[in-house]
Amino acid sequence: MLSLDNTLRPVGPGRDELVPSRYALRVGEIDVLVVSDGVLTIPPVTIATNAASDDLATWLDQMFLPHDAIGWALNVLVVRSGDRYILIDAGLGEEFPGFPRAGQLPRRLEAAGIDLASVTDVVLTHMHMDHVGGLLADGVKERLRPDLRIHVAASEVKFWTAPDFSRTSMPSAVPDRLRATATRFLNEYHKHLRMFDEEHEVAPGVLVRRTGGHTPGHSVVYLASGGERLTFAGDTMFQVGFEHPDWHNGFEHYPDEAARVRVGMMQELAANRGLLVATHMPFPSVGRVGVDGKQFRWVPAFWEY
Ligand SMILES: [Zn+2]
Repeated sequence: MLSLDNTLRPVGPGRDELVPSRYALRVGEIDVLVVSDGVLTIPPVTIATNAASDDLATWLDQMFLPHDAIGWALNVLVVRSGDRYILIDAGLGEEFPGFPRAGQLPRRLEAAGIDLASVTDVVLTHMHMDHVGGLLADGVKERLRPDLRIHVAASEVKFWTAPDFSRTSMPSAVPDRLRATATRFLNEYHKHLRMFDEEHEVAPGVLVRRTGGHTPGHSVVYLASGGERLTFAGDTMFQVGFEHPDWHNGFEHYPDEAARVRVGMMQELAANRGLLVATHMPFPSVGRVGVDGKQFRWVPAFWEY
């Protein structure tokens, strides 16, 4: 059975890792575990395709980041609400060669004592390979339940039948791989899909809502219980987005809309004071959004022991 109670016990594979790569917290009655799928390496220009190179260089210096390549975290959530066990996104899997530090989700779930057979629902923020690839990794599908429900926006599924990359700016090998992975995912999992138009309540206090922007069906997951809130922002938010919300990310299919969604989300989170977790923010990516006039700021949560 899935258990979030034994996350502090180093059991099974992963014992030899420097850090456990999982962080547990509670949102009211809902149990949440942030699990790291690992880290991708990307060229810094990918995070600021419409910025002047001097401005990007200044930001990298201010963040003490190198100019040639930066590490991009891959965070996944496991959520328990009532009798439902929900995986939110699935990491990269083995879909792209050359990222040996990513695709760790299956063994890190195992190390956390989480059995894939206990997962009742998967929610996909969108169908980029770093979010669905883990479902295609060796041995994963066989261990998932035959009645698994995968919740994804209908517009996302439709988009990937003829995806538009005209506004993106990705490393050259990436678009073909994204297309191939999305196609393979749909072929393997179409029977499990539970599509929604704008929003869907997956379990008590677990709501998925379409935002669009990053992709047409990109969605965000809202957890709310006992007066507490946590938003899993998927690819709405990146670290650079606090200082430069208008900088386009090369993976955004509709970057102007993505920037509007990003600003709206930060305004909402600054007002409701809820927690934010985003896929590509540094692990464990648990914090809040501060605002001072028009300037947003990331406030990491103090770790709870
Ligand atoms: Zn992503």
